[in-house]
Amino acid sequence: MEHFRYVDKVVTIELDASVCVGCGFCSQVCPHAVFAIRKGKAVFMDRDACIECGACVRNCPVEALTVTPGVGCASLMIKRWLHEKGIPLRLGNGCC
Ligand code: SF4
Ligand code: SF4
Repeated sequence: MEHFRYVDKVVTIELDASVCVGCGFCSQVCPHAVFAIRKGKAVFMDRDACIECGACVRNCPVEALTVTPGVGCASLMIKRWLHEKGIPLRLGNGCC
C-alpha cells in the first residue's frame, strides 16, 4: 500500500511558520516527505501526501505543527486497497 494517498485537500496537517525555528526534525521524521526546509523555515513540499501519523507534531520543539489523527482516512485507504484486491469488506461499523 506504499503508493496510497489521502484524497486531495482533506488532510489536517497545519504549519505555523511564524514560530518554526527551522530545526528540520519534521522533515527527518516524516515518512512521506511532506516537508522541506527553505530559508530556515519548514515548508510544505507535498501536503496532500500526509498520512496524519503525527510524527512531525510529536517532534517539533516549538509546537509549530498540528494534525488531527487520520483514523477515518486510514480506513478509507484500507477499504480501497481491499476493493482493488477484490476482497470483500465486512466492517459493519459505518466507517467511511
Ligand atoms: S503527520 Fe506524519 S505524514 Fe503527516 S506531515 Fe507529519 S510526519 Fe508527515
Ligand atoms: S520540527 Fe517544527 S520547528 Fe523544526 S523545522 Fe519542523 S516545523 Fe519548524
